[in-house]
Amino acid sequence: MRQPQTKGTIKPHNSWNPPRCGVPDIPVPADSSNGRNRQKRFVLSGGRWDKANLTYKIIRFPWQLSKVKVRKTLAEALRVWSEVTPLTFTEIQEGRADINIDFTRYWHGDNLPFDGPGGILAHAFFPKTHREGDVHFDYDEAWTIGNNLGTDLLQVAAHEFGHVLGLQHSSVSKSLMSPFYTFRYPLSLSTDDKQGIQYLYGTPQPPSSAPTIKPESHQPEPESNEIPYSEPDACTTDFDAVSTIRGELFFFRSGYVWRLRGGKLQSGYPALASRHWKGIPESVDAAFEDSVGNIWFFHGSKYWVYDGKLQATGPFQISDLGLSVPNVQAAFLWGTNKSKKTYLFRGAEYWRFNTSTRRIESRHSRSMSDWRRVPTSIDAAFQDEQGFAYFLQGRYYWKFDPVQVRALEGYPRLVGQDFFNCPVASSSSANSL
Ligand SMILES: [Zn+2]
Ligand SMILES: [Zn+2]
Repeated sequence: MRQPQTKGTIKPHNSWNPPRCGVPDIPVPADSSNGRNRQKRFVLSGGRWDKANLTYKIIRFPWQLSKVKVRKTLAEALRVWSEVTPLTFTEIQEGRADINIDFTRYWHGDNLPFDGPGGILAHAFFPKTHREGDVHFDYDEAWTIGNNLGTDLLQVAAHEFGHVLGLQHSSVSKSLMSPFYTFRYPLSLSTDDKQGIQYLYGTPQPPSSAPTIKPESHQPEPESNEIPYSEPDACTTDFDAVSTIRGELFFFRSGYVWRLRGGKLQSGYPALASRHWKGIPESVDAAFEDSVGNIWFFHGSKYWVYDGKLQATGPFQISDLGLSVPNVQAAFLWGTNKSKKTYLFRGAEYWRFNTSTRRIESRHSRSMSDWRRVPTSIDAAFQDEQGFAYFLQGRYYWKFDPVQVRALEGYPRLVGQDFFNCPVASSSSANSL
């Protein structure tokens, strides 16, 4: 089984083995360079089932989970596809089924051996191939359901069922049919997945009289478009990310960046962030400069690293860092000169992260309550030259004292007022938080 070809991207210097689906990717056209792949859409395998009512059978089960739970989970994974098509799926325990699901190890008779824990998680065969309907899961994964302590069966199964129904891997990063495993709840199809499956099978039959639960309408996630957003106003906006870079302070918002040197906004800013960092995603969730001068950007389930010469590598999957949740909200380098550590923040959790091994130190998150008087769900964080940390949320920020290890009295304060000389808005006060 081929390892992931990092298509059109630069190979990471250290070898790694991102958890992924074992179905080989079809080659990407050579003109899709620099990550701006305009052909982002579902890909069909060429085959489809000629009938809408399909049966399935579970041959062997994973040892970690009860059979009942596995049955329920696989049914749920099939439901995301049946909800948007005329397809139905019925489990059978005897006789021949259309879809055969097995948990198996290493060599298992189909020339696509599994590889033990990690790496390849599962694979499935397309319709109209000689093994159509076969779905194999690697028995050696730590299968779990609904938590991020192992490999989530629901997510992986829903993806494999997409193959069994005729969908190839998609290059749309948030799609279920993206080849790399990410943990995301609730399970849902992206617009791309839905368009793909409906292209093959059409939309659901008109509902019978029975009240059916309509699939939630998933807001179409804006695909990364290339139209610049209108320029935001630093006095009224909140920020996606802030980072100290080469001793200057950069504020990021919707593809724009503000640059402050010695506390002063530089002329010509805000400017498009892509002027500094070619290929930077349209918006970033978090940014930081590491101790060797690389600049890291996070967006959704991916991250990019720019070296000192502003050469980009990536995107890489955040899951490769050992982090099983996407959407890092803030990141910064924190500590005294000798022992700076990188921290990643999301909601009420944070992780310590080793930038040289590109792994989080522990899969188990720590609680934001360690950062006393700092709220949860921060948008951005950075450290100044004196060693104070700053945490932003909305239009406010907290200044954090490294000696007392807590946010200072008198905070939060308005970002616009203190960093961008915005007029004091009498109406907005901190207690509106
Ligand atoms: Zn796959
Ligand atoms: Zn197999």
